[in-house]
Amino acid sequence: MTAILSNLQAVRRAVTEAATAAGRPRDAVRLLAVSKTFPAASVSEAYQAGQTAFGENYLQEALDKIGTLRELPLEWHFIGPIQSNKTRPIAEHFAWVHAVDRLKIAERLSAQRPESLPPLNICLQVNVSGEASKSGVAPQDVAQLASELVRLPRLQLRGLMAIPAPTDDPAQQRAPFVQMRELLATLNAQGMQLDTLSMGMSHDFATAIQEGATIVRVGTAIFGARNYGGEQ
Ligand SMILES: *Cc1c(COP(=O)(O)O)cnc(C)c1O
Repeated sequence: MTAILSNLQAVRRAVTEAATAAGRPRDAVRLLAVSKTFPAASVSEAYQAGQTAFGENYLQEALDKIGTLRELPLEWHFIGPIQSNKTRPIAEHFAWVHAVDRLKIAERLSAQRPESLPPLNICLQVNVSGEASKSGVAPQDVAQLASELVRLPRLQLRGLMAIPAPTDDPAQQRAPFVQMRELLATLNAQGMQLDTLSMGMSHDFATAIQEGATIVRVGTAIFGARNYGGEQ
């Protein structure tokens, strides 16, 4: 058995266990395999093992893999930071974009989404307490931006995304996930119909699932440790 296959099986088991422990149906949580820095051959191997949704952070690397693997029925998610001059290829080649945190970027994605494709699924990135990256909107600004995003015709606002600072302390892991669950509930109570919480990575996806994650973005636990070289 290959490492990717056995890793995927272990992650799927852990996802099922976490969902079951939280009293949630297994199919309430989707596994997004984060393949950044890994070659098309690794994505193909994961596909052979039944994985169809893949997350990428670096646009050129992603476009290369999408081209190489165009014969496979894969669903590509762009999960990295978005530069405003790079929105067109993102709008053209991805099914989901997870880290939208500015109206201007969203407007460009909407305008550039090809008519031949369904609306682009997006998540609004929130800068929750302890956020590892500097991106994301402050929690108090989420409702305002969300109300602007739902008006864009070629986008479908699905929910919220966060990248909390990594910690092995379960209590510290949980707080930002709780905050995200409450933020989503607040938006839905105000009349929005959002179904997605994109949160949880290799080290904390079980905790994220307990707090309502609907998409967990898992890289290392599936593909192994990343080896950043070159310009990354
Ligand atoms: C790299 C990355 C992941 C996956 O992280 P792992 O710790 O390898 O599971 C998830 N989400 C985002 C936004 C990432 O950049």
